[in-house]
Amino acid sequence: MAQVIRSPKMYDVCVIGSGAGGGTAAKILTEGGLSVALLEAGPPVFPEKDFKMLMWPYELPHRGIGVGGRAAENFGEFLAPNGAWDIEGEPYTSAPGSNFQWFRSRIVGGRTNHWGRIALRFAPIDFKSATRDGLGDDWPITYDDLSPYYDKVESYIGVFGTHENVSSAPDGMFLPPPKPRCTDLIVKKACDKIGVICIPSRLAILTKSVNGRLPCHYCGQCSRGCVTASNFSSSQVMIPPAMKTGKLTMITGAMAREVILGKDGKAEGVSYIDKATRTEKRVNARAVVLAASACESARLLLNSKSPQFSNGLANSSGAVGKYLTDSVGSDGWGIIPQLEKMPPHNHDGVGGMHMYIPWWKFDRKNDFPRGYHIEFGGGRDMPGVGEFNDLLHEEEGYGPTLKKRARQTYGTGIGMAGRGEMIPNPDTYCEIDPNVVDKWGIPVLRFHFKWSEYEIRQAKDMQETFRAIIEAAGGVYKTKTPISGDSPFGIAAGGKIIHEVGTARMGADPKSSVLNGFCQTHDVKNVFVMDGAPLVTNPDKNPTLTIMALAWRASEYLLDEAKKGNL
Ligand SMILES: Cc1cc2nc3c(=O)[nH]c(=O)nc-3n(C[C@H](O)[C@H](O)[C@H](O)COP(=O)(O)OP(=O)(O)OC[C@H]3O[C@@H](n4cnc5c(N)ncnc54)[C@H](O)[C@@H]3O)c2cc1C
Ligand code: SF4
Repeated sequence: MAQVIRSPKMYDVCVIGSGAGGGTAAKILTEGGLSVALLEAGPPVFPEKDFKMLMWPYELPHRGIGVGGRAAENFGEFLAPNGAWDIEGEPYTSAPGSNFQWFRSRIVGGRTNHWGRIALRFAPIDFKSATRDGLGDDWPITYDDLSPYYDKVESYIGVFGTHENVSSAPDGMFLPPPKPRCTDLIVKKACDKIGVICIPSRLAILTKSVNGRLPCHYCGQCSRGCVTASNFSSSQVMIPPAMKTGKLTMITGAMAREVILGKDGKAEGVSYIDKATRTEKRVNARAVVLAASACESARLLLNSKSPQFSNGLANSSGAVGKYLTDSVGSDGWGIIPQLEKMPPHNHDGVGGMHMYIPWWKFDRKNDFPRGYHIEFGGGRDMPGVGEFNDLLHEEEGYGPTLKKRARQTYGTGIGMAGRGEMIPNPDTYCEIDPNVVDKWGIPVLRFHFKWSEYEIRQAKDMQETFRAIIEAAGGVYKTKTPISGDSPFGIAAGGKIIHEVGTARMGADPKSSVLNGFCQTHDVKNVFVMDGAPLVTNPDKNPTLTIMALAWRASEYLLDEAKKGNL
């Protein structure tokens, strides 16, 4: 067995993971005066060198699409570094009959270097939806408990938007939004015609300077990472202030293996693999915050076995790994022939949508529970490899005639993506695969995943709405989806929308939940989980703003409890 190298130092808190949740925790805890050791499995990130914000496609081999187009699945080689569907030597498995996809990052800032910056608050009803329709469970906290923390996160990171008073999409502390693009106005007009709400989007991108960060200069390349830190990433916005306190010790290349439980029933530290030396080391701390992403934190808890917790740490309820959900996703696109006549003009803007469609059918009876929102986009942004694939399937010929058609159709497409709520079900969860370990010797996760009829009906509704909007805009809807098989109505595989949450959910009842309303485990009072794992529901709103608001609130509570000597 490898020798464990113990560090004599005792930190107040050991935080695992530096993404949305871990970065927020590190900032609040260090600014509150606690010493924090931050274990991060990936390397540091150097935006000036690592982010490909202003690179042309021809500057990368294969124009950024990889050999044989293989990088296309990982959103191309322009994406902010060190994250993908597969990590060499770190597998996960899917149980027979399940197909779950898990996008992981291994870098300071985690997936916030890559994310789409869509920053939506959950609505009051999202915390109490079980009371309304009897499905799933209510949260132990309300919107009013979290609202001040949404305020704090939005004000600090910078989110643009407008006040609309739509009950499914609460307003926040917004910066002014960018102007709509031409395609936004076309969609908005179509939506008005058919009674669909369409409003300016809400993205964590600065349209004005905030705390010395420069406003966006509209290069439209947010997913590549922003060298001027004008959009939010934990690596550029949460970690620097934590570092500035002098209280943060960042340990990169540190793959946490398990939380170590002391004889007194409290966590006393974390053991991790130092990737550079392949040795096992240990950090001692008075409290532990797991923020390695929802499923990785469940994995850590399940792998932390002890005589007191033979099924995994803080798992007396058996709920760790259960209640896993992703967003329901179905995409489509159409062309608007009238756009062929559009004179060339500047389509620059933020690297994301300027308008979106919040859930608008909240006031009527639908044939599926809960709801979805629609993200959409179009216009003449920089063409990449594969831009004209659809045209090539449709048009005969080659040479000047084909090129002329490509020029005519360029910028006439509008893409739509529905993102909806999944209800937790007993066939969807993750557990430790008893037969597989990763290259560090750590047992890996095995996923079980099943969509229910609720989600499939929602995907059908998405497809019908996309078609209705495109046709109301005078366009032709191009997407065809099967009505059965692996992907009825284009429903994406589980995990593919990258909104996986719920694997250590909070709840009032310790028998059916892992955490209390402050993200503290019911079983071990100095262990907290501050990523997507605590979420009880996964409403149509993308989860990251809520992950940060919960982490901010839980960190303030941890500070308070530490001061009172309660941990
Ligand atoms: C392309 C893309 C687009 C997205 N768009 C949006 C969007 O528009 N809006 C939205 O709300 N969400 C979006 N998301 C999802 C969003 O990125 C996640 O919800 C969010 O980052 C989750 O935060 P987290 O703190 O739980 O985990 P992460 O941000 O993934 O951070 C986890 C960190 O833990 C580290 N880690 C993992 N395991 C270990 C270990 N064992 N030991 C030590 N460290 C470890 C990782 O290296 C990583 O740094 C998107 C994601 C992607 C990839
Ligand atoms: S669009 Fe704005 S926020 Fe996004 S990468 Fe460019 S400058 Fe940064």
